[in-house]
Amino acid sequence: MATGSINVSVENIFPLIKKFLYSDHEIFLRELISNATDATLKLKHLTNIGEANVEYGDPKIEVKIDKENKLLHIIDQGIGMTAEEVEKYINQVAFSGAEEFLEKYKDSAKDSGIIGHFGLGFYSAFMVATKVEIISKSYTDAPAAHWICDGSPTYTIEAHDKTERGTEIILHIGDDDTEFLEESRINELLVKYNKFMPVSIKFGTKTETLPKPEGAKEEDPAPTQEVENIINNPNPAWTKQPADLQDEDYKGFYRELYPMQFEEPLFNIHLNVDYPFNLTGILYFPKLGQDINTQKDRIQLYQNQVFVTDNVEGIVPEFLTMLRGVIDSPDIPLNVSRSYLQADGAVKKISSYITRKVADKLSSLFKNDREDFEKKWNDIKVVIEYGMLSEDKFFEKADKFALYPTVDETFFTFEELHEKIKENQTDKDNKLVILYASDKDEQHAYISAAKDKGYEVLLLDSPIVSHLIQKLETSKENISFVRVDGDHIDNLIKKDEETISKLSDEEKDSLKADLEKVIPAAKYTVQMEAMDSNASPFMITQPEFMRRMKEMQQTGGGGMNMFGNMPEMYNLIVNTNHELIGQIKDTKTDKKKERLIKQSLDLARLSQNLLKGEELTEFVKRSFEMIK
Ligand code: ADP
Repeated sequence: MATGSINVSVENIFPLIKKFLYSDHEIFLRELISNATDATLKLKHLTNIGEANVEYGDPKIEVKIDKENKLLHIIDQGIGMTAEEVEKYINQVAFSGAEEFLEKYKDSAKDSGIIGHFGLGFYSAFMVATKVEIISKSYTDAPAAHWICDGSPTYTIEAHDKTERGTEIILHIGDDDTEFLEESRINELLVKYNKFMPVSIKFGTKTETLPKPEGAKEEDPAPTQEVENIINNPNPAWTKQPADLQDEDYKGFYRELYPMQFEEPLFNIHLNVDYPFNLTGILYFPKLGQDINTQKDRIQLYQNQVFVTDNVEGIVPEFLTMLRGVIDSPDIPLNVSRSYLQADGAVKKISSYITRKVADKLSSLFKNDREDFEKKWNDIKVVIEYGMLSEDKFFEKADKFALYPTVDETFFTFEELHEKIKENQTDKDNKLVILYASDKDEQHAYISAAKDKGYEVLLLDSPIVSHLIQKLETSKENISFVRVDGDHIDNLIKKDEETISKLSDEEKDSLKADLEKVIPAAKYTVQMEAMDSNASPFMITQPEFMRRMKEMQQTGGGGMNMFGNMPEMYNLIVNTNHELIGQIKDTKTDKKKERLIKQSLDLARLSQNLLKGEELTEFVKRSFEMIK
């Protein structure tokens, strides 16, 4: 037996490993299985090129728990190491790698956003083990070696009688880490990190039900047998060529990724590039509806089929974090903080590649099957609208396929909408006025009034719509959006020259004065308008600008809170051609006049959903009094 001392520049690296990575102990298993996988794939390569004269067969990686002796075994059938190689790779390569890692990690430890703690490698075993053994038999004729290290810089190495090719790592699990002797915990980790690794991983056994023998009775239980339990699918869909996959395969993979997700995805996007960076993956559009809260089934990031994280913030643009699926790229640096990541050249390229692929896919869905695209619109619009808001490149493309549905479910692109309304919906400055509703029921009166005039009314009801509208108004010339209950009446009605006022200017002024005596000026600006006599006598509108600013502040964005604190302000539009208005004007007693005005104001508020609480109760009481 030989003993040696690991070349240490820090007095003792092991306490450091424990300390710095305390919260992430579990990654040791991922690191050891990655090594076992690498060793297996190296052997595969050597046999392929005729360098190794051995039968590759169907090698597996086995994980075994020996609870009684507090041992965890990780066994591979890979390339193995000779005694010299153990000395070289473990004592030198692995050690210097670990030291380098810690050096880096110390600096970035303050930065909490480290992505995957990748690359600590073999030495991560010492996060959970007080003693580590390696028994390894090289694929060459060299005898097996047995290396033991108890976490101090000294180690022993001796010959071993192992004859099967490969490496067995034995971890003597420390008292603080006995969780890693629990079958359920190890299973959880294997599923989390290794579910799609390229070499089969065997852990425990599972019970399989066999077919009943012929002639068995109904009540006889089916025979069972214990079979080895393989954790992973070594050939997940994203590693295959798109041409080799059917729609069903994509759906199947979605279920594999998210076993608890019962809803099918709407469509998928297969990512596959190898220049100027390497990236594969499949993204899915789930049915999102109005829900923009981040869900738990998120996009998973892999590196060579090893799970890294499901927090892809900084790697894919924020609006795409609402999608699901997998991206796998060896070109994303993992031992850096997220703030650094965003400045990384490769990551920037990856991010814009993904954005482009998503835009292209949406564009082809729109072109190839518009009807189907319209059907899906409500489930995908949040992503598209958010993308248009946040990424200018995406905006350019999406502008051609983003849809604007009307309240009657006709879907226009922006260009089509423009074409449709350019004759009928312009204001005095020839600006295009786009009317929209956010709630069909609540704004019903306004919608039908606008439709009566032949206007198109869009239904824009996603939570970020006020931001999107703002964006559209600034990026397109000569348009303005106005909610159907907003103060558009100014803009559009004034063009209606046919409507001649029934009241003279003097009559209007005196009536306005009467109204202002009763209606609180702090809240309402009274506006006299000659409209169709069938239109509502009183209408309340809200200044578009003010309402939108308030909404935008509620959904985030716009640092100042000045609008949020502003009191609600409304316009009260009085239709001077309505019969009731004439009646109010002609009412003789002040008291009766006041009552009529108050009642009318309340009715207008009621139709806008503005009458609530005590005022509503009072109103109902008063109304009963009046009709009894
Ligand atoms: P890395 O894998 O990043 O090179 P590690 O510290 O994990 O760093 O391992 C150091 C070296 O030890 C590896 O490069 C490899 O040569 C060798 N090694 C580790 N585990 C195994 C294994 N299971 N089989 C064969 N060689 C191994």
